Amino acid sequence: MKTVKSSGFEKLDRWVEIWQQTLPKYFGYPFNEVSPLRDFYEWYYANGINLMNLNNAGDPFTDTPWEVSSQVFEREVIEYFAPRYDFAPDNFWGLITHSGSDGNNHGIYFGANYLKHLTGLQPILYVSDEAHYSNMRLAHLQNLETRLVKSDTMGRMIADDLEQQLDTQRPALVVYAAGSTFKGAIDDMPTLNAVLARHPELPAVYRHVDAALFGGYLPFTEHRHLVSSRLMGFESIAVSGHKFFGIDSPSGLFLCTREVYDRQDNFNIPYLNKNMRMINCSRDPIKPLKFWWIVQRVGAEEWSRQARRILELTAYLKQQLDRIGHPAWVNDYSNTVFMRCPSPELAHQYQLAQNEDERFGGRLAHVVVMQHFTEENIDAFVRALQQDDIR
Ligand SMILES: *Cc1c(COP(=O)(O)O)cnc(C)c1O
Repeated sequence: MKTVKSSGFEKLDRWVEIWQQTLPKYFGYPFNEVSPLRDFYEWYYANGINLMNLNNAGDPFTDTPWEVSSQVFEREVIEYFAPRYDFAPDNFWGLITHSGSDGNNHGIYFGANYLKHLTGLQPILYVSDEAHYSNMRLAHLQNLETRLVKSDTMGRMIADDLEQQLDTQRPALVVYAAGSTFKGAIDDMPTLNAVLARHPELPAVYRHVDAALFGGYLPFTEHRHLVSSRLMGFESIAVSGHKFFGIDSPSGLFLCTREVYDRQDNFNIPYLNKNMRMINCSRDPIKPLKFWWIVQRVGAEEWSRQARRILELTAYLKQQLDRIGHPAWVNDYSNTVFMRCPSPELAHQYQLAQNEDERFGGRLAHVVVMQHFTEENIDAFVRALQQDDIR
């Protein structure tokens, strides 16, 4: 076991010990606990970057009048990821966000403004009842009329319900989940897009994809078409940086088409490269550096290997749960296994996230298989669950 290097604060030292002991058993939340940033921190302290106060305020795609930012690296990261989500080389824009929710905030805000500018009408936001709550929160914050579309038992937005709820006199801002938080469902975008296409009287349509977790690994698998803006027809996408990519604090990617960017209100701020379309003023300069670092150090080949491995281990976990007869379900392309909820003690021990669904007989828990999973820790979990089921 690791020993704690004392901080001189007893309480803090105790918490370090708790983190060291519990994180390897962290099964319920989608955080990659294998840090890709060891040598980043060596470089960071060796050069005293920790003593510098950089700031990425402003647009990474417009030349900035100051050098005290890491925007050139931020821009390279967005340029690296744009083709991974199939944005055309001359038709994308983006930034590194504070989190997946911050990316959704930009998607919903950009979408609403794009539709208003295009049509002169107030849009309605459509999102499934299984989507992450941040989308409902942000729609509320942005004062957007919202219609919750029902999802099927596996968590996908129901096309017929979307069609029934559609107000064809108003622009439609649709948020798709590519990996719903609890059940790991991917909304069937081609089918839902076909519903929208059946109504040419709709004044305009905008689609934002919330791909906080799955948007990290899907581009590096043979299922990459699922997050292709060209094939799935979406205008923007948000992905978290601390989930699959393992950045050690909340961060994310936001990408949209250039047309969407061009239709935003441009606050003309002379002291900030005159071009402020994004929501926040000061933005973190370190996360873009971390992102840039892992693009160089980890890269596509290793991410493909990790993606394959977590999907194999997900299948392994499901197989082991079937073997002991513990009811469990998993969506296609998903690393999230949801199951009948075990005892509160076991759920706590493995930090399992929980939810209610009467269609599955009540209380559910889920496991999100990430890079720190192994056959051994899955076997230990399954043995503990088997004991728990007997009791
Ligand atoms: C985790 C998650 C979010 C929230 O992302 P943060 O980076 O935690 O803000 C949004 N949507 C989905 C589908 C998620 O899984």
